[in-house]
Amino acid sequence: MKPKFLSIIGSTGCLGRQTLEVVRANSKRFKIFALGTYQNVELLFEQIKEFKPQMVAVFKKSAAKKLQKLLQSQHRFGRNSIPKILVGKAGWEKIASHSKVQKTVFVSSGLTALSSLYKAISARKEITLATKELIVAEGRRIMKLARKNRVTIVPIDSEHSAIFQCLQGENPRDIEKIILTCSGGPFYGKSKEELKNVTPEQALQHPTWKMGPKISIDSATLMNKGFEVIEAQHLFGLSPDQIEIVIHPESIIHSLVVFKDGSIKAQLGAPDMRIPITYALAYPERVQTNWPRLNLTQLQKLTFLKPDFSVLEGPSIASSRVHKGTGISKKLIKKNQESVQKFLQKKIKFLDIYKELKI
Ligand code: MG
Repeated sequence: MKPKFLSIIGSTGCLGRQTLEVVRANSKRFKIFALGTYQNVELLFEQIKEFKPQMVAVFKKSAAKKLQKLLQSQHRFGRNSIPKILVGKAGWEKIASHSKVQKTVFVSSGLTALSSLYKAISARKEITLATKELIVAEGRRIMKLARKNRVTIVPIDSEHSAIFQCLQGENPRDIEKIILTCSGGPFYGKSKEELKNVTPEQALQHPTWKMGPKISIDSATLMNKGFEVIEAQHLFGLSPDQIEIVIHPESIIHSLVVFKDGSIKAQLGAPDMRIPITYALAYPERVQTNWPRLNLTQLQKLTFLKPDFSVLEGPSIASSRVHKGTGISKKLIKKNQESVQKFLQKKIKFLDIYKELKI
């Protein structure tokens, strides 16, 4: 089988590193054509040594210069094995849509990759996407362009991967509703009083998933779930009343689809992001992996609770704002990013994140 050439936008982040683990484990199937990062060139340098991309794209100009120096200082890089370094937004756009790439993987965070996503879809690349902010901000436009170019967007987000997998072989018109599961994060069930003084360290302790700091805080505030509802509406063409959230602390069932005949399909698996990443990279095929398997007889129980978002207000804030249009969605995404940073730097308290988002 011929290998598939990939470009990864956001290769040094938590999901980027896990994507490269998947590539490493299936090195005959997947080859890296290009890697893109925002500014972490120290790690990118290590990734270049291992995966030998033909091109790299560094968003921040000063970081690109640093990478150039790092590469030149290494004697063992012959002139021919130094990848071409591209810079800025144009650099990301170029590697996302390059003619030698088959699949472009979006695992960066925030809105930085928006123009690269448009370029990749217009160039008819296979798209694999974890960056939910892009869909939240401009889902309607993105999906329209994807339909026009006959491009399938395969989600990496575990809930959306679950729905996508449940819908294989189904007619989307037969969906009655979907049920997005939500672990609840580290603070579900606590009162406002108990949350007043929680620290970033406590908020970063996600009970089931291994994730980067930004999305871990979004999972604690449940802003992540709020964004995921919007993401699902766009990806699967659903109305808000076709999406239900259920609290499922064990993160074993990743989401479910209820069909019009009353039948329900669910997708299960160990909570390990390498599983949905592998699915998305290999789609429409499946590849052999050694990732952890779920042992049903070792599970004590699976719990499902009706959600209460009066304390962790993420889903209500997201749904009340995002439907007001693209401008307001982008503002909310940026404001949320800033507030999470302020909380991580201990400049504001946990519950202040909501206050900032309501302004
Ligand atoms: Mg998710």
